[in-house]
Amino acid sequence: MATGDELKAALHEIVDRNYTFMHICGTHEAAIARSGLRSVLPEGLHIVMGPGCPVCITPQGEIDAALEFVEKGCIVATYGDLLRVPGTKGSLESCGGDVRVVQGVHKAVEIAKKTDKEVVFISVGFETTVPTVAATLLSHPPENFSILSCHRLVPPAMKWLLEQGEASLDGFLLPGHVCVVSGYEEYEQFPVPQVVAGFEPEDILLGLLMLVKQVKEGRHEVENAYPRAVCREGNPKAKALISEVFDTVDVEWRGFPVIPKSGLALKDEFAHYDARKKFGIEIKHVEKVSGCICDRVLRGIAQPTDCKLFGKVCTPRTPVGPCMVSHEGACKIWNLYHVRHL
Ligand code: SF4
Repeated sequence: MATGDELKAALHEIVDRNYTFMHICGTHEAAIARSGLRSVLPEGLHIVMGPGCPVCITPQGEIDAALEFVEKGCIVATYGDLLRVPGTKGSLESCGGDVRVVQGVHKAVEIAKKTDKEVVFISVGFETTVPTVAATLLSHPPENFSILSCHRLVPPAMKWLLEQGEASLDGFLLPGHVCVVSGYEEYEQFPVPQVVAGFEPEDILLGLLMLVKQVKEGRHEVENAYPRAVCREGNPKAKALISEVFDTVDVEWRGFPVIPKSGLALKDEFAHYDARKKFGIEIKHVEKVSGCICDRVLRGIAQPTDCKLFGKVCTPRTPVGPCMVSHEGACKIWNLYHVRHL
């Protein structure tokens, strides 16, 4: 593989106009910000963020549902990043109920095995995290265990973004973690340059170079700059687990309307593990009321520093929106690494 300096030099040589590429991965944003990658790119080359943070795209109605489980006396277990995301009536951290931070679904099951109380795991994440959840449900966890499935799939959101055309994009840097599971065959339907990229600065530079080359050569295909981890068909066993346990459903994303077939709901055979059905809770649409522009940041049409609240009213200690809460949220990442513009 070429060195970072060689890739930078190649990019400076080839970039002859403005190019804007979107990544859909909080880990990509963190890697770009941590390594200061934007500062070494040619002037015309821009990387914008898309809806790549699973906590950030979880709509407020699902946070409110998690709070309802607490009100019903359940133990709610979830990832630390979700705790401080504001819901309509506070957050899981501030609600005063029995809320436990866990590293994964298996830890939530362990809690359920040691108590008679109901335990609800708030299950967020893209394709990457779903196989573990599916495998856990297939292992017959105890009856007092259930999940709120907040899972989302990346390709339907990309389809929506391309159909809307709000952000003027030349192509996509595809999320390496997601493609380890899903492969990239499904992305071949999109008539736009795409490159699967890993998470080292050199991986990202290589991905960008391959994207610029596609644009210049008038090609639009899916190329793989992360072959050490990703292959076209992905992980068939992981994909089989997902389809054994989940059905695709139409769901809302924060900042987006309902996107067809972009979410995962438990199949009827697993209804006894579906916390929504078990406790009769409906997910409601909640209108945004604060000045938070997470919705626009997640659609790639605004950057965190466009928000009037950034770093003033909204900080990691006093987050107004989810993008300032999650480690994969653009606002938190920009605040941490003092990024000020794309
Ligand atoms: S800075 Fe805070 S309020 Fe503004 S978009 Fe980001 S999370 Fe929302």
